[in-house]
Amino acid sequence: MQTETVKKGRERTAQEKISDILKKKMTFSFEVFPPKNDKPIEPLLQTLEKLYQYEPDFISCTFGAGGKNVGRNEEVLRAIVDSGHNAMAHYTCIGQDEEDILHTVENFQKIGIRNMLALRGDFPEGWTGTQGAFAHADRLMQFIKRKFPSMTLSGACYVEGHIQARSLDADIAHLRSKQDNGAEFLTTQLNYDIDAYRRFIDRIRKAGITIPVIVGVMPVLYKDGVIRMTLSNGCSIPAPLSRIIGKYGDKPEEFKKAGKEYTVNMIYQYMNEGIDGLHLYSLNKYRDLAEIIEEAGIRGTF
Ligand code: FAD
Repeated sequence: MQTETVKKGRERTAQEKISDILKKKMTFSFEVFPPKNDKPIEPLLQTLEKLYQYEPDFISCTFGAGGKNVGRNEEVLRAIVDSGHNAMAHYTCIGQDEEDILHTVENFQKIGIRNMLALRGDFPEGWTGTQGAFAHADRLMQFIKRKFPSMTLSGACYVEGHIQARSLDADIAHLRSKQDNGAEFLTTQLNYDIDAYRRFIDRIRKAGITIPVIVGVMPVLYKDGVIRMTLSNGCSIPAPLSRIIGKYGDKPEEFKKAGKEYTVNMIYQYMNEGIDGLHLYSLNKYRDLAEIIEEAGIRGTF
């Protein structure tokens, strides 16, 4: 009986638009990425089973620019939806003409997806444009919204500005265009600087961007990962994090322990800013993430 109730509740959740959940509460969610085409999917399915225990409001699945692993992406999304959980499909328009876009979004709808993160994507090496129907995410959103009005769209945002943007002002002006073209909420790229986040929120609200902002948190677990991701995205490493790198950079276990504490603290700081949603980049790992979630008391230990 109880199982039946839980199942029914989950079925309802699975069909919910994230924009509707955001009207009611702070969302809690995870991001996963599909395994490469030649790798088994089972380890990720096992990780997902464990992540479900934390009752996420949704789980998002990344999309390989150019649609390299579109089959795997759909397999992961289908597994999330079939388990009765809400999914958000990432999608990039690199190398995609209108037909490709229509085909993929139709497939998403067939799977039961009602939420998409619509992105331009990073250019593959040597490319200077998307070589597809749309040059930027705002136009992609306009197209999807016109063809699939019931699809809820999210857009990416960058607390310190996108790495290719000529300035944060320019990036925020383009962000406004995402809202005007159908984005119902935004999801941030990783950011370790809470002061930068506060300034960003002030600036976007002044710029007339009123939609909710879900904060993407990249756990601090590996020194090389932190350095690679911050450099490739043009993000700051604040002093407390740089101290952890300096002190424990050559001691992976100690680095991870200090990094988890840093992550828990960062989650509290974000929550105290009144964020609309917390989105954990899971890196397809379970154990470290579970420790962070339970240590922060967000889920699991009530
Ligand atoms: P855009 O909004 O098009 O912005 C790109 C640049 O162009 C920015 O500098 C912006 O200021 C500028 N710009 C925007 N609109 C205009 C305009 N109308 N005219 C002129 N300039 C403009 N990548 C993947 O490949 N797969 C994923 O699954 C994925 N998931 C992501 C999830 C999140 C939460 C985030 C934040 C990023 C993700 N990315 C992913 C990375 C993303 O694809 C890259 O950051 C990409 O370089 C930019 O995508 P965008 O949608 O923000 O592009």
